[in-house]
Amino acid sequence: MPSLSRGLASSPGKIVAQQNTGEAMKGTIYLLHFSKPYKHASHYTGFTTNLKARLEAHSKGTGARLLEVITQAGITFNLARTWKGTRKGERRIKNRGGAARICPVCNPQAMNRAKAIN
Ligand SMILES: [Zn+2]
Repeated sequence: MPSLSRGLASSPGKIVAQQNTGEAMKGTIYLLHFSKPYKHASHYTGFTTNLKARLEAHSKGTGARLLEVITQAGITFNLARTWKGTRKGERRIKNRGGAARICPVCNPQAMNRAKAIN
């Protein structure tokens, strides 16, 4: 794993699942819509280079702390939409907030918006 680098030593308590150097790596940004809200969260935005494996992990309640918690609370989720993009694109979507506006399950017009992520 030569690309697994910095960040590990400085945050020993955290599990760094992905390498920090993957900024420009192309993958899939995905939006999950929860069957019901958990506290203030009703969506999860993530990035992966293997969506199928990632969704399988999430369905078992692993891969992301929030999904682990909602799974334990008996909440299910659907894959609402995906984009081709990078981690930067994922961050842009997260920082923008208001996932319901870009979620086609919540907002039928969502597919007309936020087309340009990169
Ligand atoms: Zn939604």
